[in-house]
Amino acid sequence: MKRAVFPGSFDPITLGHLDIIERAIPLFDEIIIAIGVNADKKYLWSLEDRKRFIETTFASEKTIKVKTYSGLTVDFCKAVSASFILRGLRNTADFNYEQSIAQTNSSLAGVESVFMMCSPKYSNISSSIVRDVFRNDGDISALVPTSVLG
Ligand code: ADP
Repeated sequence: MKRAVFPGSFDPITLGHLDIIERAIPLFDEIIIAIGVNADKKYLWSLEDRKRFIETTFASEKTIKVKTYSGLTVDFCKAVSASFILRGLRNTADFNYEQSIAQTNSSLAGVESVFMMCSPKYSNISSSIVRDVFRNDGDISALVPTSVLG
């Protein structure tokens, strides 16, 4: 069973995340979208809302599961028997951030990272931009799946 974990904060899920996940569906038998919980981090949407947005978005996708976790991503991968971590890349900043984490996860835990380049039309989308627009009463409908719009 080729199982991948797609980890992130998903505060909230965006069309950029959706693009990566949909394009990765043919590559894996199962993808677990894993919402990381960090007690020191402040989120704009509650964990329940973030989870519901993702579950609603992928309700008809049988190979997509949604879970929450805390602690190291590789420990979560071990717990769910996933050999791969899926990540999206938007630019060189993403690459520089991801490179050493991926190398460490591979050498210490034997978990391989699989990177997908984002589609050009989504390279400007990030959860933090969505939060900024939302906080200032802007229109986020071009940035997120409809489940986030409520
Ligand atoms: P994190 O807290 O790890 O930054 P995010 O929820 O922001 O979590 O992102 C999770 C994953 O989705 C990361 O691999 C990130 O690079 C990727 N990602 C975020 N936005 C986009 C986008 N617009 N296009 C492609 N990948 C994206």
